[in-house]
Amino acid sequence: MSDTTFEQIGRVLREHQRFAILSHVRPDGDALGSQLALALSLQQLGKHVRVWNEDGMLEKYSFLPRADLLTKPPSVAEDVDVAIALDTAIQNRLGTALAAVGSAKIWINIDHHRSNPGYGDMVIIDSRAPATGEIIFRLIKSQGLPLNHDIAENLYAAMSADTGSFQYPKTSARTFEIASELVRDGVLDVGRISQQLYESFPRRRLELLREILRTMRFSECGQVASFSLSLKTAADLAVLPEDNEGLIDHLRAVRGVIVAVFFEELADGKVRVSMRSKDEKVDVCAICQKFGGGGHTLAAGARVRGSLVEVEEKVLEEIRETLKHARIS
Ligand code: 5GP
Ligand code: MN
Repeated sequence: MSDTTFEQIGRVLREHQRFAILSHVRPDGDALGSQLALALSLQQLGKHVRVWNEDGMLEKYSFLPRADLLTKPPSVAEDVDVAIALDTAIQNRLGTALAAVGSAKIWINIDHHRSNPGYGDMVIIDSRAPATGEIIFRLIKSQGLPLNHDIAENLYAAMSADTGSFQYPKTSARTFEIASELVRDGVLDVGRISQQLYESFPRRRLELLREILRTMRFSECGQVASFSLSLKTAADLAVLPEDNEGLIDHLRAVRGVIVAVFFEELADGKVRVSMRSKDEKVDVCAICQKFGGGGHTLAAGARVRGSLVEVEEKVLEEIRETLKHARIS
């Protein structure tokens, strides 16, 4: 699903001067790396670029080259020529970054979420791409936009983060070809980037894992695994929201588990639901959409109003129903 060509976007990028590049709340490595990569490329062209995210730069991604460019949005809106939303399935997941854009002549929406409805004036949604970073690479290459070491490292980090370090099913030959090109032409040190991405967590992340493992539950058949994090535990351990990114993989990694779910109590009376599937026949995006969320077939999320117990019950019931109807060998 894509109405706009890279050529059309390339033209808009060259013909305008002031840009705002945005991504979704609670950003991940793909969102932040894609933002920085495109921003740095536009800066090389002499453009004036703002790079905003509601949460600002996360501690865990502050190693990304020129991470300083990415800031929280200003409280007073700023006018730009072009606003670009990256990796953001629905426009209101831009959060306060959306409000910080005063007027924009053109809105561009570049994403890889199947559930993206295609908001904006120019839209590229490639749900086959495992990461938005892969689409940004193709845009940069096809349009002859600047690509230097810093840009390559941001793109590599984006792709590594969203493919589970080149493991998830959407990882394709093209993904490896792009990664290879980035490593070769950007002269990247893969070991160092991987260490920064996967072996530099604060100790409190492991302490958090220890606590949430105490809440671990499996369904009778062993196909559904879940755990949860209450506000109290989060406060006791003084964890940051970013600390739980990826912990759900421990559930997914269990043999026999098809759906893994993480429930996180939020301060606004909602529960953040994070869901993973190991089988294309069990579409967790569809399940999350029933609760107002979205995402990908195998990785999706939602924010659901209610207490932790209420939301756990409702969501686990919906998963049980889905599994009952899915034909799983
Ligand atoms: P995660 O579980 O890592 O937070 O998110 C998994 C995927 O689902 C991501 O691609 C993310 O964009 C999407 N997602 C997570 N939470 C929500 C949500 O509340 N609404 C929508 N539309 N998508 C979400
Ligand atoms: Mn992504």
